[in-house]
Amino acid sequence: MTRQRLAIFAALAQLGGHRTAEEIYELVRTQYPEVNLSTVYRNLDLGVALGLVTQTDLGGGIRRFEFVRAARHHHLVCQQCGAVAELEDEVLEPLRAALHQRHGFVAHMDHFAIFGICAECQSRRQAAEAQLPG
Ligand SMILES: [Zn+2]
Ligand SMILES: [Zn+2]
Repeated sequence: MTRQRLAIFAALAQLGGHRTAEEIYELVRTQYPEVNLSTVYRNLDLGVALGLVTQTDLGGGIRRFEFVRAARHHHLVCQQCGAVAELEDEVLEPLRAALHQRHGFVAHMDHFAIFGICAECQSRRQAAEAQLPG
């Protein structure tokens, strides 16, 4: 059980970036054929509870897991082209402070995805609008 858990965390770290449980399952299965997908999910959820793993939905309603790195980060997700950019945590610091000050609320924003339209898609859209007659 513990060895499987280590293999799951190691697979997530090895793959790097944001991974689905299925991707991790495919890798771990080569080493531990007896592992099933629900075991992978259970251990990833445990990793989240222990603070070793973060999860976020980068679109499409699919949970993606990431091995925790030293620096906390978030993401900007373009709903038009699907580009995912990294956002430094310090950008969210004023929001965190305001939530605490005005609402006495301690926000857990460990790994956040903000959806919108990226700069490239905006300029592409403006260029297209400029070409419209009238
Ligand atoms: Zn991330
Ligand atoms: Zn875009």
